[in-house]
Amino acid sequence: MTKLIIDPGHGGNDSGAVHENNQEKNFTLDISQRICDYLQNHYIVDILMTRTTDVYLSLAERTDFANHQQADYFISIHINAGNGTGWESYIWDGPLDQETIDAQNTIHSTIMNRIGPTYGVIDRGKKRANFHVLRETTMPAILLENLFIDSENDLNLLLNDQFIDDLSHAIGEGLAKALSLPQKS
Ligand SMILES: [Zn+2]
Repeated sequence: MTKLIIDPGHGGNDSGAVHENNQEKNFTLDISQRICDYLQNHYIVDILMTRTTDVYLSLAERTDFANHQQADYFISIHINAGNGTGWESYIWDGPLDQETIDAQNTIHSTIMNRIGPTYGVIDRGKKRANFHVLRETTMPAILLENLFIDSENDLNLLLNDQFIDDLSHAIGEGLAKALSLPQKS
């Protein structure tokens, strides 16, 4: 069975990006739990979360856990900040196998096809970066930056329950396609 790690960014005394009383760590946990529920309801897959509560984990603890579990795929969920708008995905900017590139293409397009037309979310593109969780994982890995907490338009979407549900389901569908997860009968 495919073993998937879902990593909700930040947690505990690491709030991640903050805007007014909104904290990145709460959005990332909510979205991650909805992805997990959606996949477990519809697909045959073994999912492990790096955290399921509001606790602090170092980046090394997250990747050590995934590597120790010998997972097949790692996805990290984040919210962006810094006066931009829109959605983007990242894979490592070091040497990569084709599997990681193909999975980004599939996941990225599945999500943007859902949240682009319906909610007008801007596609910031498929990117590469030297992030710890992308570099130190021994399995293919992706990191998603899901809108900007400090953009008024983006924050309104992040506070919209229907949007969070649609986004989480689209991420789940992208993962199911990329990992060829068998559907539950
Ligand atoms: Zn973050």
